[in-house]
Amino acid sequence: VIKKVYPYQLTFKYPFKIAHGARTGTDVVYIEISEAGFTGYGEASLPPYLLETSDTVIQWLNSVELDFNIADYSAEIYYRIRHQYPGNMPALAALDMALWDLKGKTEGKSFRDYFNIPDANTPCTYTLGISNKAEMEQKIHEAVNYGFKLFKIKLNGTDDVQMLADYQALTHLPFMVDYNQALDDVSVAADKLSWLKQLGCILVEQPFKKEMFMDSAIITSSKTIPVYADESFQTLTDLPNIPGAFNGINIKLMKCGGLTEAINIITEARKLNLSLLIGCMSESSVGCTAAAQLAPLCDYADLDGPYLISNDPFTGMKVADGFITIGDIKGIGTKPTPLY
Ligand code: MG
Repeated sequence: VIKKVYPYQLTFKYPFKIAHGARTGTDVVYIEISEAGFTGYGEASLPPYLLETSDTVIQWLNSVELDFNIADYSAEIYYRIRHQYPGNMPALAALDMALWDLKGKTEGKSFRDYFNIPDANTPCTYTLGISNKAEMEQKIHEAVNYGFKLFKIKLNGTDDVQMLADYQALTHLPFMVDYNQALDDVSVAADKLSWLKQLGCILVEQPFKKEMFMDSAIITSSKTIPVYADESFQTLTDLPNIPGAFNGINIKLMKCGGLTEAINIITEARKLNLSLLIGCMSESSVGCTAAAQLAPLCDYADLDGPYLISNDPFTGMKVADGFITIGDIKGIGTKPTPLY
């Protein structure tokens, strides 16, 4: 088994503004693992609020010894690695992705074949960062041309009325809202949810600071609009905190440590009657195509990463007629382009 690790910087088409700041790009690390003429690819994405950096990811990936045949890779081996090399979820996610990709290519199977995941039409959102009306018009126009029919609008608690007035003047397509922890008052949040319901908003993600479970439980129990956890939910061990406080969770491979853990989260979350969104950080086609393998098991996908960057070195999942599509490809379904 040959392992190679490369840092890369993704560049956004537009500077990305949310409730706590603006960015023009994101550092990622790619890993490729080769055996018998096949190569599996993985990606770790490092937005600045994660504790890990490109350097810690590269160090972690270089330190892991792959002392097994790719044919034997399984959830059991994944959890052995997870315990032997603790921490660094983005690096673990990248490794797990690359191993499933290589295993699938070697054995002529897709990731979905290993877990009996059916194909299904999962709607995919396109994210609108905080924007003025002209910027929003441009972004909606592009997204609709790409095939998106659902938007996730980032709000910050202060420009909400203007943002949604602009949105509804520009399109009648459905939308959800992501506050990214911008709210800290229950009565303000309750008013916002009633207002959002009137406007037809389908769900609200992370209105409160991530530790405000009790406050979240109050607005969730009002049953105004479904409330989803993103920052309040990282990985399987956080799941017991969710029922009551939220109606659903946003699962991301970079938070939970990869596809193998995500499959377990999905199984356990469904037992708790939670709704599911499969999301991404700022990721290229490697991470988003891996996540797209899980889309049929989730209610919504938020896998617009490749559409928001100008230098994607891979191809893979696409959105068509509002839904996620991945071709009939082996492994996770991503291929390098000449940019790689
Ligand atoms: Mg979010």
